[in-house]
Amino acid sequence: MITENIDRIEERILKACERAGRKRSDVLLICVSKTKPDEMIVEAYDHGQRNFGENKPQEMRDKAARLESLKDINWHMIGSLQKNKIKYVVPTAVLIHSVDSEELALAINKEAEKKNVVSNILLEVNIAGEESKHGFKKEEVLPAVMELAKLKNLKIRGLMTVAPETKKPEENRVYFKDMKDLLVDINSKNIDNIHMDCLSMGMTGDFEIAVEEGATIVRVGTGIFGERNYEV
Ligand SMILES: *Cc1c(COP(=O)(O)O)cnc(C)c1O
Repeated sequence: MITENIDRIEERILKACERAGRKRSDVLLICVSKTKPDEMIVEAYDHGQRNFGENKPQEMRDKAARLESLKDINWHMIGSLQKNKIKYVVPTAVLIHSVDSEELALAINKEAEKKNVVSNILLEVNIAGEESKHGFKKEEVLPAVMELAKLKNLKIRGLMTVAPETKKPEENRVYFKDMKDLLVDINSKNIDNIHMDCLSMGMTGDFEIAVEEGATIVRVGTGIFGERNYEV
């Protein structure tokens, strides 16, 4: 089932790229494996997938340790991160998507310095201004980037958003456009150390629209691994 699901999602990403005049290689698919067992991850890996997303620091650390023999697997942290859990994701995660405050970024920089690595991060933007969502407000992003650009053990690679839940993915197009505009705008300021090349947006319900609007990373869980059961 997982292999068929991946093929179907791959096909839809390809079509969305074609519609937008983009290359398939410009979009990275992350298989969001949170709550799912190792066997499913291995099945996706054996079918060619190399990028996996987790939202719980310890779960990521434990899966990464158990699947250590898969040398070229990449772990992405996509869930909200508390400061005392940073040690579990630095340096395991190739990219931390969910940096939602300057304070958190400073703490990641500190842990990365301690471990003598550079952490790749994205700033999470609450692009629709939802009450319930984490992330920087749109107008807070540029000042944050200017501040964080000076840190030696952080590399700000781009922006991430979780668009509103909706039955009509077309409704999120405006937010994906806003994200792209924000990225282009910040890049145009030519801030030292800053060239953002990642735009992480689009999930099972709306990834095609996100690709059409410039996503370079899409995060698909349900569409690949099926519904999640948080009870078990
Ligand atoms: C769970 C999750 C996803 C995947 O969601 P699906 O709708 O299952 O594709 C993507 N991004 C984040 C931040 C998530 O927490």
